[in-house]
Amino acid sequence: MSGAPRYRFAPSPTGSFHVGGARTALYNWALAHRDGGTFVLRIEDTDEVRNRPEWTDGIIDALAWIGISVDDPTFEGPHFQSASAAEHVRVADELFSKGHAYYCDLTAEQLRERATMSGRQGYDGCSRDRGLGPAPGRVLRFRVPDGETVVNDLVRGEVRFDNADIEDFVLVRGDGSPMFLLANAVDDMATNISHVVRAEEHLSNAPKQQLLWEALGRPAPAWAHVPVLVNEKRQKLSKRRDKVALEQYRVDGYLPEAMVNYLMTLGWAPGGDTEIVPWSEIEQSFRLEDVNHAPAFFDEKKLAAFNGEYIRALPVGEFVARCEPWLPEGWDRSRFAAIAPHIQSRVVTLTEAAPMVDFMFLEGPVIDEASWDKVMRSELALPILERSLAAYEGVDWTSEALKGALDQIGQTLGVKLGKAQAPVRVAVTGRTIGPPLFESMELLGRDETLRRLKLAQDRADG
Ligand code: GLU
Repeated sequence: MSGAPRYRFAPSPTGSFHVGGARTALYNWALAHRDGGTFVLRIEDTDEVRNRPEWTDGIIDALAWIGISVDDPTFEGPHFQSASAAEHVRVADELFSKGHAYYCDLTAEQLRERATMSGRQGYDGCSRDRGLGPAPGRVLRFRVPDGETVVNDLVRGEVRFDNADIEDFVLVRGDGSPMFLLANAVDDMATNISHVVRAEEHLSNAPKQQLLWEALGRPAPAWAHVPVLVNEKRQKLSKRRDKVALEQYRVDGYLPEAMVNYLMTLGWAPGGDTEIVPWSEIEQSFRLEDVNHAPAFFDEKKLAAFNGEYIRALPVGEFVARCEPWLPEGWDRSRFAAIAPHIQSRVVTLTEAAPMVDFMFLEGPVIDEASWDKVMRSELALPILERSLAAYEGVDWTSEALKGALDQIGQTLGVKLGKAQAPVRVAVTGRTIGPPLFESMELLGRDETLRRLKLAQDRADG
């Protein structure tokens, strides 16, 4: 192999962009970027039935979100497979004219009969020596040579295939349209791809594609087939069953850097004692040879833990900025910025921030009835509310003073601060859990706090 490496990512635009695709893209990106190579994006859009142009935009947006940008000098494309149809046909003709492929006119029905009669599955090569030329309805098949095909896979090592187990596969259908296998390999050749890093499900295509490269006198690329992602039941992740759309994680408040870091650890570990590692380091240490063969568990809980950790590490101003898309219109941004430091360590996703502090922005808190019942049933609830109201009329309006006053009330009534806080928290925030209470009250201000305490007192009294 000569020159700088050329990697490629070749998604089919047939659905929302899958987290598994994102991981494959990142593997290619890390290698191309680090080694001064190129990352080629090829959209495999030849399936006219399942293909939709908006999915292509979705792929490009999703890639940009995880840091793979069309504006980066490493990036090439997108190329569209549908634009190379003439090249696919040209290569098919070349394979035919060099004797590496032949036409067959047997119908599917006839082939089934032959298989039943011989008791052997698969195509038996019956038209290999019939010397048929092209004609409508005839498929072009590759003449698989005798011997063995050894796929040198960077993840799996040597994978050996006995050519006797590979049937003479179809390159071009009876209607003249190229098969996926041919189009995919021809596009890789046309763009001088040196490394094919892709999902494990394509490993069975690799020997066939390698045979095509060899038949055309080209050295095959380096292969790497990366393990599938599975859910907690060890089932392959599926669109119908699992949350697999990358976009959904974006909407649900995941940080792209957490997602990227987590995806890279599926089947690979950065070394050292933590898996939380910035991209710059990942890029330096990632090696296909270190990728595990076993299926990788896509653990949403672990992803959430990564996300929480990334959120906590943000400078607070940055945290505020990242929350912005989820903040309702009309909320006072400076008030949000003031409460933000108190919730940053408590949220796992950005979507959780606004609901956690909504009581700061609403006319009054929306009382959660379960919280109310739990806390206000205590016979101490009313005395605590009454005494806090009285104490908070005159106290210095600082979180320390508010805390000190409530602590005192608790002591007089024989309860710890934690217990004494509960009715005040439900009165002021509507819930039993939330950001630190005294800081919240300090920001909310005396008038509004007292108003809410009074409302709660009236209700508890009534
Ligand atoms: N278009 C194929 C897919 O999305 C990729 C094939 C390849 O990477 O070679 O599964």
